[in-house]
Amino acid sequence: MLKLRPGRLIIASHNDGKIKEINALVSPFKIKAVSSKKIGLIEPEETGKTFAENAMIKARAAASASRLPALADDSGLEVSALDGAPGIYSARWSGPQRDFYFAMAKIETALEEKHPTDLSARFVCALCLAWPNGDEAVFEGEATGSLTFPPRGMQGFGYDPIFVPEGYDITFGEMEPDKKHAMSHRANAFRKLIDACLT
Ligand code: IMP
Repeated sequence: MLKLRPGRLIIASHNDGKIKEINALVSPFKIKAVSSKKIGLIEPEETGKTFAENAMIKARAAASASRLPALADDSGLEVSALDGAPGIYSARWSGPQRDFYFAMAKIETALEEKHPTDLSARFVCALCLAWPNGDEAVFEGEATGSLTFPPRGMQGFGYDPIFVPEGYDITFGEMEPDKKHAMSHRANAFRKLIDACLT
């Protein structure tokens, strides 16, 4: 498998929350994460049926347009009692305004309708690293936990305010960013990527 060298790495995402987290993870390796938005790349349509397929679609498109290695993250929240929803539709549940308080309320309503006793959920992250020569690799990670309502905490992004990671009583939204970055689904996928491509 190809190794990543110090320099620029295109991050195939227009999501500032993700870029910030990824930059914190790759900067110790002298790699500068540059968002695809910053260099004017258009996001392809996410037509995959899994997190991994969507990450591959985004990374391939960015590597081939930029002629640089590109990394894509496809991630989301899977709620057990909702049969894994919102899953790959996590961003889409927030509507055109990308309003995650709306999306979190939608989850709460869906759960109320089902009266579940099980509030378990997990964040899933698939990372795809693609090189302009067509090489690619996918790494997956998860963070397990449970949901709580109403949302708590202003740190993080997306569904962080309703997700309590296993072994804790605070939400990702209440947690110090460094602590979340060390234990998140993205961090777990990243550890695999680092082992394979950065060491
Ligand atoms: P994607 O850009 O299609 O991968 O969208 C993933 C969506 O999942 C994001 O917009 C967030 O709503 C949600 N998500 C992924 N990772 C996290 C996280 O670490 N915290 C909170 N929400 C997340």
